[in-house]
Amino acid sequence: MNQLRPALFLDRDGVINLDKGFVARVEDIDWVPGAAAAIRNFKARGWYVIVVTNQTGIAQGLYTEEQMQAVHDHILAELAADKAQIDRIYHCPYHPDGEVAAYRRDSFDRKPNPGMLLSAMADFPIRRESSFLIGDKLADLEAAHAAGCGGFLFTGGNLADFAEWALAAFEDGAR
Ligand SMILES: [Mg+2]
Repeated sequence: MNQLRPALFLDRDGVINLDKGFVARVEDIDWVPGAAAAIRNFKARGWYVIVVTNQTGIAQGLYTEEQMQAVHDHILAELAADKAQIDRIYHCPYHPDGEVAAYRRDSFDRKPNPGMLLSAMADFPIRRESSFLIGDKLADLEAAHAAGCGGFLFTGGNLADFAEWALAAFEDGAR
């Protein structure tokens, strides 16, 4: 029997890296202060750290899934070099009004739907009720709540400080 562990779910743009509208290239990655420290702190507690990101720009034809993968490889490598290990990045490339036919559809993975979080719970032995998400949009929090997790709205500042505050609030009963 696998021991269940809690997960810290993180949105990508606006939480780990600065949101510049669309972040399509490695050179567009500017880190949110405290991002690596937040990940390190929760890994040190034995938590999973999982990124869940809507990538509408793929459906809009602004960049390809391969280009996004190169950005994700860079994010994972840079954070790993900073001893901050993300367990997995889940992305949703679909949008119902997308320009690219192959990606033009609604998706259960697209936040505010909970599909990416539920996939993570199928892939990892995650203790749902002990897990929470940090996002910068209400759709992020809606996805977390629909998945049975807590959700906290990050509006800027230091992510590690915010994550410690969120954990304390969550343990106090905030959802
Ligand atoms: Mg965001």
